[in-house]
Amino acid sequence: MIRPEFIIEELRVNFPEADLDTVWRAYAFAAQCHRGQKRSSGEPYLNHPLEVAYILAQMKLGHVSVSVGLLHDTIEDTLATPEQIREMFGDEIWGIVDGVTKLTKIETATYEERQAENIRKMILAMAKDIRVILVKLADRLHNMRTLAYLKPAKQKQIAQETLDIYAPLANRLGINWIKSELENSAFMYLWPVEYADIKNRVNQLEEARETYLVGIVDAIRERLATAIPGAEVKGRPKHYFSIYQKMGRQKIGFEEVYDVMGVRIVTPADADCYTVLGLIHSMYKPVPGKLKDYIALPKANMYQSLHTTIVGPGGKPVEIQIRSRRMHVFCEEGIAAHWR
Ligand code: MN
Repeated sequence: MIRPEFIIEELRVNFPEADLDTVWRAYAFAAQCHRGQKRSSGEPYLNHPLEVAYILAQMKLGHVSVSVGLLHDTIEDTLATPEQIREMFGDEIWGIVDGVTKLTKIETATYEERQAENIRKMILAMAKDIRVILVKLADRLHNMRTLAYLKPAKQKQIAQETLDIYAPLANRLGINWIKSELENSAFMYLWPVEYADIKNRVNQLEEARETYLVGIVDAIRERLATAIPGAEVKGRPKHYFSIYQKMGRQKIGFEEVYDVMGVRIVTPADADCYTVLGLIHSMYKPVPGKLKDYIALPKANMYQSLHTTIVGPGGKPVEIQIRSRRMHVFCEEGIAAHWR
């Protein structure tokens, strides 16, 4: 079981002035309310609110959201009353706990896939405080991490709902790491055969690709070392579900999708991005029509980066993403970074 000290530590790194007393009181209250309850996994129920609070601290949210993480299931699943929570923790925390409890009620009503868009809109409209949705995403993330303990039919239902409602919400709010984890785990439960197949094939090809990319990464690093000191060059993380989506959407085979290798460059300052792009294009020939400037024209969720595809040694395409450190934080953390 995760210890409350871990949560406190994570919180304090981001907010040295955080109100830790409230977090400890929320922990004590949740421990008392959930006493004796168990999760499907057999572990004490309290572990769930603790994990949710920890995810919220990792999202770099403050003591209010972290306390709500600890309290989020007390109204729904225990004898705790709204009056108690309002009296002990105040209106701000109560307001968010109440919002989360109301969202949980919508979710338990059955829904069909074609209604997903309406439900997403309803959730966005209902949550006057965006932190309600952030807590709900953390809750869903931990439920997906522990989905193995539920019956197969229930697993599929929750995975489908995650894919239809919660991953798009995470995307809409620009929280890429949560969107990716939700999609990959929902993918695993919904289409286990396809998931295992793609994962195996990615792993098999990985070694050859890494050997190939090392040459390019080294060459770029060397060139940037003097031009843009402090720029980082690395391979890109793999996302199984997006490979699967591209195979279906473009009706192409795994080899064609996974043919494009990726390199990501993170620069210290925004202004460096175009300098890096110029340097890369002077080193390798760009593929025509592949340059996308999401810095001048950010995506709807505020995503910013330059994308270009270059022709690597032996004629292989390599996609290069260029962004500054500031943009990188916003790409991964989305609205949570703005909130801070
Ligand atoms: Mn929960």
